[in-house]
Amino acid sequence: MIELDGQLFDGQTTRSRAASLRVWTDETVRIAVAGSEQTLQLPDLEIPARLANTPRRIRLPDGAIFETPDNDGADALLAAQGRTRRHWLHRLESRWDLVLASAVFVLGFGAAFVVWGVPALARVAAFAVPAETSAWLGEGALEVLDRTLEPSALSDARREALRARLDEVTAAAPDAGDYAFRLVFRGGGDFGANALALPSGQIVLTDELVALADADEELIAVLAHEVGHVVHRHALRQAIQSSTLVIAIVLVTGDLSATSGSVALLPTLLAEARFSQEFEREADAYAVRTLDRAGIDEAHFARILRRMDEDPDEGFASFFSTHPNTDERIRLLERGESGEDAAPRQSLK
Ligand SMILES: [Zn+2]
Repeated sequence: MIELDGQLFDGQTTRSRAASLRVWTDETVRIAVAGSEQTLQLPDLEIPARLANTPRRIRLPDGAIFETPDNDGADALLAAQGRTRRHWLHRLESRWDLVLASAVFVLGFGAAFVVWGVPALARVAAFAVPAETSAWLGEGALEVLDRTLEPSALSDARREALRARLDEVTAAAPDAGDYAFRLVFRGGGDFGANALALPSGQIVLTDELVALADADEELIAVLAHEVGHVVHRHALRQAIQSSTLVIAIVLVTGDLSATSGSVALLPTLLAEARFSQEFEREADAYAVRTLDRAGIDEAHFARILRRMDEDPDEGFASFFSTHPNTDERIRLLERGESGEDAAPRQSLK
């Protein structure tokens, strides 16, 4: 128990009366004056910091002041108050501006986490995914895609020639040595002329895209772009980002049913991933570097994109409707301005 002697001022007049203030370990405060006693709680007291040896004026909730020359006693009181977390909660509860500021901080932090934190975490996680898991996910994604894709009608000779082209790309592509790239031939179905990269290193190439190309160099350019997606682990990053958001939404809404089967959904997320503009720019820049190393004119890339864009096939139309800036991308490619900083904004999936 802490006990202090002093004077009690009623806060209205200058009159004071001798009083004593006692604090129990349960934070009950009793102030006795002229035979009567009032009971308070320690967090209710406003205790000023020590100022040399001037008397301490402790303010009570009703505006009264308990003044004491016992600075050591007041310090002990202050220390006891500082030890109690309830004090801070009490002050927070009574300070709506602080509550509001905290809410704004939490919301701001949450938004920043989604904008910067989630992609950064997804990047780290995607590069930590072992090759066997990537292979398993790739197989799952291909199974999902095969509900839409059709068998390829390409001849064995054509497939062999294109596989040799992929080898040319990977030989020139930066950091591609760690991956087992494999071409998978399919009829496009609703996908039309398209190519897409799976985390396993499988690159799906549709017959329609092969038919659309005027030269193999154009297909090499597309493959280089897809290899870029694999090396940068875009599909995994996109899927992890999406599922992290799902988890965040579940945590916020408390709707646990939304998570059930979210792991099982990963292959579908991979198959349906539409890459962000940032990822497409990265893959474009990667393709341009690769073509450069292979000694292939990057104008081939712009040409095949232009043709895909202009093709009347419905598959493209739906694909390009989600990629509105193809013109800008082609213009940048044709001006030779692609690179990490001035890259086209849109591309193949
Ligand atoms: Zn792409």
